[in-house]
Amino acid sequence: MNASRRIWIKTPLATLDEASAGGVVIEGQRIVEALAAGEVPAASVDEQFDAREHVMLPGLINSHHHFYQTLTRAFPAALNKSLFSWLKSLYPVWAKLGEEMVEVSTQVALAELLLSGCTTASDHHYLFPQGLENAIDIQMAQAEKMGMRVHLTRGSMSLGEEDGGLPPQSTVQDEDAIMADSERLIARYHQAEPGAMSRVALAPCSPFSVSESLMKASAKLAEKHDVRLHTHLAETHDETAFCEKMFGLRPLDYLEKVGWLSDRVWLAHGIHFNDDEIRRLGAAGTGIGHCPSSNMLLASGLCPTLDLERAGSPVGLGVDGSASNDGSNMIQEVRQAFLLGRLRYDASEITHQKVLSWATEGSARCLGRDDLGALKVGMQADIALFKLDELRFAGAGDPLAALVLCGAHQADRVMVAGQWRVTDGAIDGFDLKALIERQKNLARKLAA
Ligand SMILES: [Zn+2]
Repeated sequence: MNASRRIWIKTPLATLDEASAGGVVIEGQRIVEALAAGEVPAASVDEQFDAREHVMLPGLINSHHHFYQTLTRAFPAALNKSLFSWLKSLYPVWAKLGEEMVEVSTQVALAELLLSGCTTASDHHYLFPQGLENAIDIQMAQAEKMGMRVHLTRGSMSLGEEDGGLPPQSTVQDEDAIMADSERLIARYHQAEPGAMSRVALAPCSPFSVSESLMKASAKLAEKHDVRLHTHLAETHDETAFCEKMFGLRPLDYLEKVGWLSDRVWLAHGIHFNDDEIRRLGAAGTGIGHCPSSNMLLASGLCPTLDLERAGSPVGLGVDGSASNDGSNMIQEVRQAFLLGRLRYDASEITHQKVLSWATEGSARCLGRDDLGALKVGMQADIALFKLDELRFAGAGDPLAALVLCGAHQADRVMVAGQWRVTDGAIDGFDLKALIERQKNLARKLAA
């Protein structure tokens, strides 16, 4: 597509925001016009896409994932366990990851996300066994090939079993190596400018797998390079007990002590906070990546999403790793957030618009993006279009609500940065069958 070519995605069946009811006009990577119902573009367009059968959403944004875990979905030894014992079953398996496994599992996760309407994906990769020092480089190359926007975090583990941590010693790295590699990745891949296709954030894994000094050093390095910080926090009661025993502090007090209670940070999960902690998180503007499927699967608990949001925290959505979900489908995750949210809050508060806003604007804020997550003039042209022609939608009234209530699972068309990446429910130029075969073979090899 020529950069100056104008495309009008015309009169969608429904949108998340009435201000784009007449569609949007795209030029290059950006949205240049958002049309109200009945309006037509101010200048001529080169191409029109008739969206009268499509529900139009801003591209969904995934705030938390572990792509490599697609290789250990429904892993027999990890079934029916809660977080700590689930992790202990999987750490030794994950320690055998190789380069091809990272390449293929990244393709699998990105393809699954893209087909579900996701245009920006964050990943948290924290395993760097010998021979896999270039895991993030491999992920970056795959994302570029697929034309997806990514925020890849340089994960890390430095607190092994010998020092009182949870992961086996063979899976942890020393701090100097972690810091040096973090700086290398920022220099190589972090695009600070608006419209960025790749950004890097720093992501020590969790309180029970990382030393206090690494948390502090990561915060300093993130400030130096103005990149974001990410970690798992307040996921389970076991974690709270671990923090109280190891550091003499509750998880949030520990987070504050190491210099992480700030708006540079977004946290995965954020379940077990008391009222005072929610107030402090909100005042600091710390983001929360809510992962409903994972929280249910691991019996972790129920995130106080609306309380956090009212206090001032951005709330986004994440599918989490595919060993605790065990899928990477963003539109399905929206439905999970909707249903789970209604177990805690009033039906009038958890609406389909609310959960869709978490998957778009909310996740964008978690990732520190003001150019993503809405269909407005000046925003990036990241767009997901869903058709309601499957059996599951037959008889549906409100088209936008139908996406969430009837359980949409696949987008018909997806555009990233002004380029169509999914057409008629298929990723352009991508051999999905061959990918599935490669992934199955590698998963068998990893399990053996
Ligand atoms: Zn996670």
